[in-house]
Amino acid sequence: MSDRTKKLGKIDREYVWHPFTQMKEYEEQEPIVVEGGEGVYLYDTEGRKYIDGVSSLWVNIHGHKVPEIDNAIKNQIDKLGHSTLLGVTNPPAAELAKELIGICPPGLKKVFYSGDGASAVEVAIKMAFQYWQHKGKPDKAKFVYLENGYHGDTLGAVSVGGIELFHSTFKPLLFETYRAPSYYCYRCPLGKTYPSCEIACAKEVEKILEKHHEEICAVILEPYVQAAGGMIVAPEGYVKIVREYCHKYDVLMILDEVATGFGRTGKMFACEHDGVTPDIMVLGKGLTGGYLPLSATITTQKVYDAFLGEYEEFKTFFHGHSYAGNPISCAASLGNLEVFRKHNTLENLHVKIDYFEEELKEFEGLKHVGNVRNKGLMAGIELVEDKETKKPFPLERKIGWEVAENAMQHEVLIRPLGNVVVLMPPIGIPMEDLKKLLKVTYKAVKEATES
Ligand SMILES: *Cc1c(COP(=O)(O)O)cnc(C)c1O
Repeated sequence: MSDRTKKLGKIDREYVWHPFTQMKEYEEQEPIVVEGGEGVYLYDTEGRKYIDGVSSLWVNIHGHKVPEIDNAIKNQIDKLGHSTLLGVTNPPAAELAKELIGICPPGLKKVFYSGDGASAVEVAIKMAFQYWQHKGKPDKAKFVYLENGYHGDTLGAVSVGGIELFHSTFKPLLFETYRAPSYYCYRCPLGKTYPSCEIACAKEVEKILEKHHEEICAVILEPYVQAAGGMIVAPEGYVKIVREYCHKYDVLMILDEVATGFGRTGKMFACEHDGVTPDIMVLGKGLTGGYLPLSATITTQKVYDAFLGEYEEFKTFFHGHSYAGNPISCAASLGNLEVFRKHNTLENLHVKIDYFEEELKEFEGLKHVGNVRNKGLMAGIELVEDKETKKPFPLERKIGWEVAENAMQHEVLIRPLGNVVVLMPPIGIPMEDLKKLLKVTYKAVKEATES
């Protein structure tokens, strides 16, 4: 190892506290120091390269060093680094909002900017809550969320989060909510089997709404894939059914597309698979192609109009972040959308998804692979100790990490979610790299679980 890498590792361990990382363990290892990227590859300070198999934690869309995005950022830097969006605007923020509305499901009309996915979820929560205040229904104040759902780590987002491991510690700080079962077919919370279940998990949402709709403000969920929950894929039609219940019981529907947006599932947004328009849609992660922090909470004219009034009525949406609509981030995002148009990214994706699905089937033959699921290029491979009984590996075994470490030896960087091996490459991944990613992962799973 070079002196430079050693030195960087040393100062990092001395001064940086890493997110979602047990620092005791981290301090005992030499970290990988990533300093470069090109296409789907990341380069470390030792000159090693890795396929970015989980899109730098789900943010990267077309790859690294994408000319259109690089240039958009460089051009913007020559003009303006930042100016507030409180009462004034800037060209990229205005232009991006127009472009986003152009690609969003029909009916979404207004873009509210923030920095991270969690902030944009907070915005959605407060927007939905205040909407009902303005509509003269202040009792509609509670949220319905799904078990295994994940919406970020700020307290509002954790209140509607359904991952015990992350969220139970903070229970005393959270607001009251209603929890509906996850659409987790492999381990159906209702003990049923698809399709004979007729998507009974969606009916559980209806049961809650039927009983409590007068005090319910909104239902929040991730359309089609509960990503952080373990890449859990919803049965076709689930989102549409819940949309209908939301109409029927007059509650807002918030769809969190932070992970699923920007082509991950094969369409620009996952809700398009079911032809659904939510009342509020949340975007983050891939919004800038994986370059810069930027998120957006996008809503309908109906929700927006409820906030209009004379100044002294104080119907204003009292929420905002310092870097909302940052022009460099918005320029990156415009570059991201330009790539989609110029390279027909979505059209070209079908071939990759077909190949991906075909190859994923191979994993089902492995002795300890209990379930393989995907929507587009988002996939989860759930490892089990016993396939018959679906008995999970004990978490202490860290089987997912063992797979990731094996893969790293063969130039593939992935990060598991517990016992679920996650594959979520940039959608711009070239075919030969997609092949390599699958081949290496297959071997890594086999080695970790069968030896
Ligand atoms: C990652 C994620 C978030 C949180 O976004 P951050 O930018 O990490 O705050 C919210 N919702 C979903 C579905 C996510 O996957």
